[in-house]
Amino acid sequence: MKLLEGKTALITGASRGIGHGIALKFAEHGANIAFTYLSSVEKGEALVKELEAFGIKAKGYRSDAANFKAAEELVNSVVADFGTVDVLVNNAGITRDTLLMRMSEEQWDEVMNANLKSVFNLTKAVQKPMLKQRKGSIINMSSIIGVKGNAGQSNYAASKAGIIGFTKSIAQELGSRNIRCNALAPGFIETEMTDALDPKIVEGWRSSIPLKRGGTVEDVANATVFLASDMSAYVSGQVINVCGGLLT
Ligand code: NAP
Repeated sequence: MKLLEGKTALITGASRGIGHGIALKFAEHGANIAFTYLSSVEKGEALVKELEAFGIKAKGYRSDAANFKAAEELVNSVVADFGTVDVLVNNAGITRDTLLMRMSEEQWDEVMNANLKSVFNLTKAVQKPMLKQRKGSIINMSSIIGVKGNAGQSNYAASKAGIIGFTKSIAQELGSRNIRCNALAPGFIETEMTDALDPKIVEGWRSSIPLKRGGTVEDVANATVFLASDMSAYVSGQVINVCGGLLT
């Protein structure tokens, strides 16, 4: 069953990792896909072809989600190209991990701008087309680190916790217009990034998870499909942990 047929989704940061997986899963479910990337130009261009193979319309845009004006221009372009935006997935994010003692102002600002300000920028920009059509689903990628904190990630944790407060507020502001806003909080998701880690550390993480495995990109993408689809029509203002039971 295709759950997103006829919907247009805008996904930020889809050139790699979780965003890439979400774009493929959305296309499999029949959505037309507008997506962004920043530095991975070749991967972004390759993704268009991968998505078109599902028989849907796809277009990639090189756009910095941390830039307010660029976000506004992006949404205008997507509306011009696709006619509307039904689903926004604020997925783009970065880490600049270090202990507070060593953290520079730049490392703080970079993470807050790419992870939190980006969510404000894009949500504000899609508000107009979503209000006009009186429907929409906004999905913000938080993290269990934003719920429980983590030593060496105070900038990242603060940005991801900020996303949760923002999500709950927007759900309350826009609910009367049939616009839903939810957050996903993935746990330990195994990607190319984690492949590079010491296998002993990875094994330690896996054994601490009740389901005894790291999450896959597909696990997160499936939860995103649920929030994007009408299956979640009565779900708004929620944070769904996709963490194998690590947080309860
Ligand atoms: P990733 O592999 O590093 O991919 C990040 C994506 O975001 C890339 O496509 C990157 O594009 C894009 N991006 C970064 N800054 C951007 C900006 N300013 N404007 C536009 N695009 C930007 O990361 P990931 O592991 O898939 O994580 C995706 C999201 O899930 C992030 O928000 C992350 O915090 C969250 N998350 C991940 C995990 C995990 O275990 N992996 C757990 C919890 C939450 P370019 O490559 O083109 O620069």
